Amino acid sequence: MNPIHIVGGGLAGSEAAWQAAQAGVPVVLHEMRPVRGTDAHKTEGLAELVCSNSFRSDDAETNAVGLLHAEMRLANSLVMACGDDHQVPAGSALAVDRDGFSQAVTAKLQAHPLITIMREEITGLPPADWDQVIIATGPLTAPSLAAAIAQATGSDALAFFDAIAPIVHFDTIDMNVAWFQSRYDKVGPGGNGKDYINCPLDRAQYDAFVQALVDGEKTEFKEWEGTPYFDGCLPIEVMAERGPETLRHGPMKPMGLTNEHDPAVKPYAVVQLRQDNALGTLYNMVGFQTKLKYAAQVEIFRTIPGLQNADFARLGGLHRNTYLNSPTLLDGSLQLKSRQGLRFAGQITGCEGYVESAAMGLLAGRFAAAARHGTPLALPPETTAFGALLGHITGGHIVSADEPGKRSFQPMNVNFGLFPPIEAQKLNGKRLRGKEKAVAKKKAMTARALADFRQWLGLPASDAKAAE
Ligand code: FAD
Repeated sequence: MNPIHIVGGGLAGSEAAWQAAQAGVPVVLHEMRPVRGTDAHKTEGLAELVCSNSFRSDDAETNAVGLLHAEMRLANSLVMACGDDHQVPAGSALAVDRDGFSQAVTAKLQAHPLITIMREEITGLPPADWDQVIIATGPLTAPSLAAAIAQATGSDALAFFDAIAPIVHFDTIDMNVAWFQSRYDKVGPGGNGKDYINCPLDRAQYDAFVQALVDGEKTEFKEWEGTPYFDGCLPIEVMAERGPETLRHGPMKPMGLTNEHDPAVKPYAVVQLRQDNALGTLYNMVGFQTKLKYAAQVEIFRTIPGLQNADFARLGGLHRNTYLNSPTLLDGSLQLKSRQGLRFAGQITGCEGYVESAAMGLLAGRFAAAARHGTPLALPPETTAFGALLGHITGGHIVSADEPGKRSFQPMNVNFGLFPPIEAQKLNGKRLRGKEKAVAKKKAMTARALADFRQWLGLPASDAKAAE
């Protein structure tokens, strides 16, 4: 049987190799370290964790990444098995001994009879006789391969920096303060003149907000990242530093907007939020890319009227990050639409984080192995963490109705906003409210996800049932 070639032995490539080999397909894993390094990796180990040693929350009942852990364990993930074996104490989070973890992944892959590991840099698109390939070269893809991918997919299709604006869960925006309206009530294709959520600030609120941005604690760029500011993508705090009026003439301009709660009072400035997913559960803060530290973002953005109770699905950032415009380029099985058999996996597809990258590697490995066996695999249901994340990457994302063609796909961690909503009104006949209701909703979502994921894997409904 012809092998599947996997380029990049990071979190995604290692998991993809394991899944494909466990499905009985030979794999050649091409990893450039130690022949060539990256700016962040320090060892030659596979699945090296380049920064924190945490896989984040391991709570599968009320946390979306914890749910993803649980689904990955059900799918016999190598990354999760080695993570569990090398766990270090970290409360409800799963943190790992980074060297022990990477060594364990490397040893497992080296010992697998169907896996060959080649230490070499792949400098261009895979040759035509590699008919099943997964590119999992990560946020720091070596430049010559990145250039080849950019050339093959189009100049706008591969980004080298992300410019992430915070995303808010819709149901935590106070619509008694904010209102729906497009600027000048403009109706774009598919829109109705009410495509944005608007949060009004008066003069005093605006002045305090600008000062807080200037004073807020920022993260620094790493030396090797450079300073990737370009017009139209300045961090808000940099705009604030340019003068008190800059934001009011930029992303916070109040023109063409009337506060429906108080039409007589013209807002001095406005923060706009745009729908971010097809479900309408998430809204991003337009033009709010930032290098403010996460804690500072939460504190400062909650001073915006309407966002006082905002729950953030993602906070803002600006990093060096090579990633594809996946919703346009990839099909549902992570395959390049323009070249059958060439898949992408990991952070380069536009997910964010160790666990999410490994998860997309797991799927790509299974999809490629199924294609090699000639038995195509159904996509995981959108109600599961795998399906929700895959949906964000390959299709669920929408483009602004009044800015057709505007590219706005940005990397994202898994979060409950990506799942189809579920209602949890009552528990044991008791009406739920507030935090209790939010927790019940999460529990209902995770229970639904695990049941649906088991079904997708062909597992019995639960271990208890299996034992009966
Ligand atoms: P990687 O794990 O980076 O694996 C890609 C592999 O491909 C590497 O081993 C690389 O050597 C190899 N490669 C690249 N080009 C080629 C080529 N042409 N030929 C052959 N091999 C090649 N996520 C978190 O959850 N927590 C964090 O703390 C965190 N910190 C980060 C810090 C930095 C500086 C960066 C850049 C990212 C960070 N991330 C973090 C985000 C991300 O989840 C990780 O980068 C994750 O490792 C991505 O997994 P991956 O498999 O897609 O890529």
